[in-house]
Amino acid sequence: MFINGKFTDGKSTESIPVINPATEEMLDEVPRGTKADAHAAVAAASASFLDWKRAPANERAAALHQVAAKIRAHHDEIVELLTKEEGKPIPENDEEVWWVEETFDYYAELARHETGRVIPPGDPDQFNFVRKEPYGVVACIVPWNFPLLLLAWKMAPALAAGNTVVIKPSELTSLSTLKIVEVACGHLPPGVVNVVTGYGPEVGEPLVEHPDVPVIAFTGSLDIGKRIASLAGPMMKKLHLELGGKDPMVIAPDIDLNVAVSAAAYAALLNAGQVCTSTERVYVHESIFGQFSEKLVDFVSKLRLGNGLEEGTDIGPMIRNKFREKVELQVAEAVNAGAKILTGGKRPANMTRGFFLEPSVITGVDHSMRLMREETFGPVIPLMPYKDFDEAIHLVNDCQYGLGASLMTHDAKLVKQYFEQVKAGTIWINDPLTDNFAGPFGGMKMSGLGRELGQEGIDEYYEVKHVHWDIEGKLKEFWYPY
Ligand code: NAD
Repeated sequence: MFINGKFTDGKSTESIPVINPATEEMLDEVPRGTKADAHAAVAAASASFLDWKRAPANERAAALHQVAAKIRAHHDEIVELLTKEEGKPIPENDEEVWWVEETFDYYAELARHETGRVIPPGDPDQFNFVRKEPYGVVACIVPWNFPLLLLAWKMAPALAAGNTVVIKPSELTSLSTLKIVEVACGHLPPGVVNVVTGYGPEVGEPLVEHPDVPVIAFTGSLDIGKRIASLAGPMMKKLHLELGGKDPMVIAPDIDLNVAVSAAAYAALLNAGQVCTSTERVYVHESIFGQFSEKLVDFVSKLRLGNGLEEGTDIGPMIRNKFREKVELQVAEAVNAGAKILTGGKRPANMTRGFFLEPSVITGVDHSMRLMREETFGPVIPLMPYKDFDEAIHLVNDCQYGLGASLMTHDAKLVKQYFEQVKAGTIWINDPLTDNFAGPFGGMKMSGLGRELGQEGIDEYYEVKHVHWDIEGKLKEFWYPY
């Protein structure tokens, strides 16, 4: 762990093994942190807050640019460790670490741009302004699927705004987080960044419930998001929740089929389908449904499963067996209810180690199936035909989640109807899952609260204060007596 500028085992007497999901071998161990460790980290972050808050924005910007530069200097090493720990192929981790570097640079600049606004006064002798102020200690609770990117999307804006942070990485992927802190955060004042490894109930909850932690920035599952909200809500904490999704993709009949097939496969199978914005439902116009599914089956069946470290691997393992079993169960239930697997869906016979699952394409599905309603988080592409665009939009919105939604078309009328009527935090037209530093990312409905990235992504870490200043300070006619 990393508390108050030092690596430590804290009060922990046990460790948590970190497993390589491609080989099932133990890579290393991390301390099983305790409530006392969480509290020690909060104390360190609280103690360093005032100085960090008062540091000129230019100084904080320089420090964050230095974080980015140091990560860049260790880029390949971090990519390799992340691949061993999380499983996705090198090109995907290469991109993840690039995002981390760029996010620190982006927020370093954004935070020195402005910290509020001057507003028109009600009287010429008055001066009114709005200050954006950091909250204090931010708990960053992060999942395993993009452990560094999702950390950077919280940590960089939180620090840039003048907050200090306590990071609780996923117990499955703590090594790469510790590595980043080791190589890139040594120049920051002690206590500004802290990492406490361990399990959610043992480390996460003490952070959520700590009275000196006013902001909880969480990315993870809906169930844990609800648990955190139930603990933090009564304490009136600022909640930033990036939760699950069940993202749709609609394929319109005008689109080039090869483009649509490739886009759907990428959007559904990136990181073995373990992306919060994975396409998990594909709606295809009935006039091209047969052709599309044939081409998709051909494309998907040629993708190569393997260890993410090996060149030529398209799809790595799933993170753990229990996540694979959940996917298998959803697929089996759908098949029992009449769905048909066109390709894949099995554990590869020739790979005895690693949590691999063949990517599958499935038809005959409908919204009564859990496969079409609940988050799957695995390499599965269920296809459903639609007759007209109104029906497609209805199907897209018939979901508790509203994270992202994709559309493949060149028809401007359909595009307009889609972005106006679909309830989702991000709409992708012809380029699924592409994020933008300046574009806010987050969910509507049960996909969460708040946004990461963009100006919105730093505003999450400021609270605003209105200052009303009557410079003359004369007696007011409207004061007592009436
Ligand atoms: P998870 O909810 O199991 O865990 C997320 C983090 O919360 C981990 O660090 C975990 O240790 C911690 N945690 C667990 N119980 C806790 C508790 N009681 N109190 C405090 N912290 C606790 O999620 P996961 O399996 O690591 O990640 C996958 C999930 O994350 C999926 O549902 C996925 O959709 C979601 N996700 C969402 C986004 C997004 O931006 N919306 C991005 C990536 C992943």
